Amino acid sequence: MTTPAAQDRARRLESALVLSALIRCDTGLRIGAAESTIAIGGLDHPVIRDPVSGEPYIPGSSLKGKMRSLLERRYELSQTWAIARGRVHVHVCEEEHEYAECPVCPLFGIAAPQRARWFCLARLRVPDVFLEDASRRELAEKSTDLPYTEVKTEAAIDRLTSAAVSRTMERVPAGARFGPAQFILFQYAGDDLRRNLQVLLEGMELLEADYLGSSGSRGSGRISFRDIGLERVSFPAGGGLAERTPLGERYPTLRDLTAAFDSLGL
Ligand SMILES: [Zn+2]
Repeated sequence: MTTPAAQDRARRLESALVLSALIRCDTGLRIGAAESTIAIGGLDHPVIRDPVSGEPYIPGSSLKGKMRSLLERRYELSQTWAIARGRVHVHVCEEEHEYAECPVCPLFGIAAPQRARWFCLARLRVPDVFLEDASRRELAEKSTDLPYTEVKTEAAIDRLTSAAVSRTMERVPAGARFGPAQFILFQYAGDDLRRNLQVLLEGMELLEADYLGSSGSRGSGRISFRDIGLERVSFPAGGGLAERTPLGERYPTLRDLTAAFDSLGL
């Protein structure tokens, strides 16, 4: 049997499936910035902003990282890989046979264990997501507390004296929309695209069920995916320009897309 590690040739990149969607903030969204680097208005907890435009954005790494951690829990994957000087453990497949069955590592990628050759095809790309044009205009007209954001004040209650200490944090207000976000799935020869897309959609479902950013258990970070479209970009064998084909229709919500999953013809 030929294993991927035994192949000398690189596996051919056949196509990319591009899922695009708007991300709607159903509650205020807080993706924090390092406080030392971006201090706006002396807030305790500023949100991350694009250094050029000054507008809040959603880092692709936040979307990808959160989906990955939720999927690892959903599939009960081993958490044996220590990062951040041993303070954090995550899942990383360390054996080729394990990787071949893993729903997460082939999509999200892993660091190279022991310089093995089978690891290297991270199939999912998630670019950063910026404010949708219409949403940017709406927020600009609303004259929010800070440009495009609100300042939320919460109270920490002393359990003995009932004294309240307030803390402030910055959020992108509920109703704001980012996008279109793109989730790009590369397909190499032999890949099961149907399975990979299903895992991506599962990750998106988990993200809608949970939250993005911080303070999720206190109400922030509920998001939903809207106006979702799929396009297949095929790279012809032997060279030539890509061929683009829409897949399915546009789906108002993630639920509409998952209900139509079997009709996509994958
Ligand atoms: Zn894995």
